Amino acid sequence: MGEKKLALITGGSRGIGRAVCVRLAKAGYDIAFTYSRGAEAAQETLKLCDAEGATAKAYQADVTDSAACTALVKQVAEEFGHIDVLVNNAGVTRDGLIMRMSDEDFDVVMNTNARGAFYMMREVSRLMMRARSGHIVNISSVVGVMGNAGQVNYAASKAAVIGMTKSLARELAGRHVNVNAVAPGFIKTDMTMVMDEKIRESILKTIPFGDMGTAEDVANMVAFLSGDESRYITGQVFCVDGGMAI
Ligand code: NDP
Repeated sequence: MGEKKLALITGGSRGIGRAVCVRLAKAGYDIAFTYSRGAEAAQETLKLCDAEGATAKAYQADVTDSAACTALVKQVAEEFGHIDVLVNNAGVTRDGLIMRMSDEDFDVVMNTNARGAFYMMREVSRLMMRARSGHIVNISSVVGVMGNAGQVNYAASKAAVIGMTKSLARELAGRHVNVNAVAPGFIKTDMTMVMDEKIRESILKTIPFGDMGTAEDVANMVAFLSGDESRYITGQVFCVDGGMAI
């Protein structure tokens, strides 16, 4: 292993993460991705990456576990020789109005979406600084930009991702590592398919394009930010949202 550039993606077993793995495989990267519980789904992602000609490997690793993130990055770097792209995609929701939101609902979402991205960036930054190159792409959300009733925890976590993106972009700019965020709008995945039909209908009315996006729409932006064409772009947040955040 080690001929092609290597992209490490968290939460690659389903949804946007899987689409990112396949899109980057198609773009010529080898793929290392994590999953939490979906071992079977991870196998399907592996097959899809393989069909695109990539060497791909799945790792069971919970991003809320600091030691697991450290061990993961070490293992991937040893096995592939280098990490050229990090995509922090793993994420969860625990929605509810603030008066009914438990401490646990807040902590689980913050720990997965914000803390997980922090652990991964801390480990990978060391390697990218040494290599004096690399791309980090963080999956935030339009909710981190605009806020959303019923998602105080999720909005806080996704706004935190944007803050970390901008700060780390400044820290790593001198080493030619770019750090950007993608803020998807309303994308067809398991995360949104479990929503109440009425809520889905009301969200659709707020989207100028009038339709949900696909995981591939998000993956295309990630592919651009992971490659050489984005070399002069850092610290930015790109909404992929059918105009939702205008
Ligand atoms: P899905 O629920 O479809 O997939 C979530 C992925 O994250 C799975 O691969 C899951 O792994 C992984 N994951 C969850 N918790 C952990 C954990 N603790 N450690 C490691 N991996 C974990 O979500 P989406 O594809 O819809 O979302 C992907 C990202 O995009 C998230 O960050 C989400 O917040 C963001 N986003 C999504 C939007 C949407 O409309 N869908 C809109 C805006 C942002 P496993 O299956 O193994 O549990």
